[in-house]
Amino acid sequence: IVTSGPTFEPIDPVRYIANRSSGKQGHAIAAALSDLGCRTTLITGPTNLADPVGCDVIRIETAREMLAATEAALPADIAVFAAAVADWRTSGEAQEKIKKQPGATPPSLEMVENPDILKTVSASGNSRPTLVVGFAAETNDVLTNASEKRARKGCDWIVANDVSPETGTFSGDNNTVHLITDGAVEDWPRMTKTDVAQQLAGRITQYFEAAE
Ligand code: C5P
Repeated sequence: IVTSGPTFEPIDPVRYIANRSSGKQGHAIAAALSDLGCRTTLITGPTNLADPVGCDVIRIETAREMLAATEAALPADIAVFAAAVADWRTSGEAQEKIKKQPGATPPSLEMVENPDILKTVSASGNSRPTLVVGFAAETNDVLTNASEKRARKGCDWIVANDVSPETGTFSGDNNTVHLITDGAVEDWPRMTKTDVAQQLAGRITQYFEAAE
């Protein structure tokens, strides 16, 4: 299972809040795992990308739909959570377009927390995948924040990436990541998102080969 892309959380039928995510990294991971022979389900929020060859692709919009699709795709050996899930949604989606009235005060949004898919699946007991990999997009103190996140979420590995604006990571084709596993931190050189995906897929299959 690979999650990718943003989630869209509706405000009303025409407006939404979302996270910044092209889906490039998640889609590339799904493609790389599929290329290595894994039966791969890609669960993705809205992106402009073509479906990776060989994957089952499930399209969702909201975090709650992403959680439901992920749980429906279990059991799985491997789950990689590369999606940029919105942490909050509005507490009540307006059923009709909110009208802009001349001179009126702008509406205020009340937010509620979305489910944490990575954390939920990491704690899912019998149906927990053997290897759960999360991402940590950080703008500062990348390694410290990512290691804390690994513990907090209960996942096995974290891919920490530096998304400070000067890196151009968000919509670009390159990524600088660190792989945080049980006892080690690996600093990977800056490379394309496709190369990050292939290296990660290679590390994942090595892990399963070593465990055989
Ligand atoms: O807490 P934060 O969003 O920084 O954590 C990032 C990791 O958690 C990513 O792997 C992301 O896909 C996952 N996540 C999730 N559900 C959420 C928020 C984040 O699966 N609601």
